[in-house]
Amino acid sequence: MSIKKRLSPKDSERLQILRKDIAQARDTFLGYPVSKDFDYSELNDFLKYPINNLGDPFEDGTYKVQTHEMEREVVGFFARLFRAHPNDYWGYVTNGGSESNLYGLYLARELYPNAMVYYSESTHYSVRKNIHLLDIPSIVIRAQENGEMDYEDFENTVKLNRHKPAIVLATFGTTMKEAKDDVSKIKGILKRLAIQNHYIHCDAALSGTYGAFMEPCLPFDFKDGADSISISGHKFIGSPIPTGVIITKRSNRDRIAKGVSYIGSLDTTITGSRNGHSPLFLWYALKQLGEEGLRARFKDCLDTAQYCMDQLHNIGIAAWRNPGAITVILPKTPLEIKLKWQLATEDDISHIICMPNVSKAQIDEFVHDMKNTSPVEEEAFEFEF
Ligand SMILES: *Cc1c(COP(=O)(O)O)cnc(C)c1O
Repeated sequence: MSIKKRLSPKDSERLQILRKDIAQARDTFLGYPVSKDFDYSELNDFLKYPINNLGDPFEDGTYKVQTHEMEREVVGFFARLFRAHPNDYWGYVTNGGSESNLYGLYLARELYPNAMVYYSESTHYSVRKNIHLLDIPSIVIRAQENGEMDYEDFENTVKLNRHKPAIVLATFGTTMKEAKDDVSKIKGILKRLAIQNHYIHCDAALSGTYGAFMEPCLPFDFKDGADSISISGHKFIGSPIPTGVIITKRSNRDRIAKGVSYIGSLDTTITGSRNGHSPLFLWYALKQLGEEGLRARFKDCLDTAQYCMDQLHNIGIAAWRNPGAITVILPKTPLEIKLKWQLATEDDISHIICMPNVSKAQIDEFVHDMKNTSPVEEEAFEFEF
C-alpha cells in the first residue's frame, strides 16, 4: 500500500503566503529586465512528465521524454533572425545568458587555445567568472561614457598583442546602460590589424531578442561578424524558469563534438541533463508572437521608454537612453524609491527597464514618487545609518 503524501496545514499555509509575496513582488518591480506577462497555462500538463533534453538537440538520442524538436525550432528561429548561414548554424536552449556566454567562450577557446580575450568594463559580471573557469588570459577594455566599448582603446590593446589569436566578447545591451558594442566595427579593427585568428562572441542576453527590429539597425549578428550569439529567454520573452539560447556556427561546434554511447548522442552541451520544459515555453511564445509579434512588442517597449524619459524630464530629472534602448538611465534614486521599485543601482546611476507590460500607469506612479521624495532628506538618511 502506498503512503499518501500530503502537506501539513501549516506548510500549505506557508505555500499560500509565499505565493502571495511573490505575486506582490512581481507587481512592483521596474528595475530588472524580466517580462511578467506570459501565460503558459496551456502547457501545465507537461509538468507531469520527467522531460529531459540531455544530449545534442540535433541528434536524437536514446531518451525519448524530450522536446528536441521544439528546441530545434527555437534555435532555427533565432538563427534566422540573427542572419546565420542557413546551412551553418547550430545551438541549444541553455539555463540562461550566463551559460550561453560560457558556451561561446568555450567554443572560442577550443578553436584558439592560445588566444587572449578582450571585453569591456561594462561587460556582465558572469563573463569574468566564465573566463576564469576556462582559464583564458584576458584584458579589460575601457568603456565610453554611454557604456559602449572604447574602440580606440580596443585597437591599441589588440595591437600590443597581435601575435595572439583574439577572442572578443562584445555586448549587445549592457546590464546598466543597455549600450551596444558595434560588432562590425570590432570586426573591422581585427581585419585592419590583420589578426586572422579571431572569434567574436556577442553577449546579446538583454537586447538580442529585439535587436533585429531596431531602426536604424545596429550591427550585432552573424552577417555583421559574430561567430556566436547568446540571449536570455526569461527577459524580453518571459518564462517561469530562467532560460537562454546560444546560437553558433555548426562548423565550429563540429570541431568540438564528442560522441557518448551512454546517451546515444553527442556531448556538445555544457550540462548533461538539460531542462526540456524551457524550450517548450520559448517555442510556445514564439509560435504565439511570431516575428511580427516580437517587433510590435519591442515597439511598445520603446514607446514606454520614451514616455518614461519625457515624464522624468518634465520634473527636471536628467534621464537619457542609448539608441534602440528600452532602458532609461537616471541619476541614483533615493533609497526609499530604490527599495519600493526594486531598482538596480551602480555608482551614481539607476535605471528603469521598460520591458513588456511595464505600463504607463506604473511610470506615472514612479514619477509621482520621484517628485515627492526629497533627495536631500534621503542623503541624510543614508548618512545616518
Ligand atoms: C542578463 C544578462 C546576462 C546573464 O544572463 P542570465 O540569463 O541571467 O544568466 C549576461 N549578459 C547580459 C548583458 C545580461 O543582460
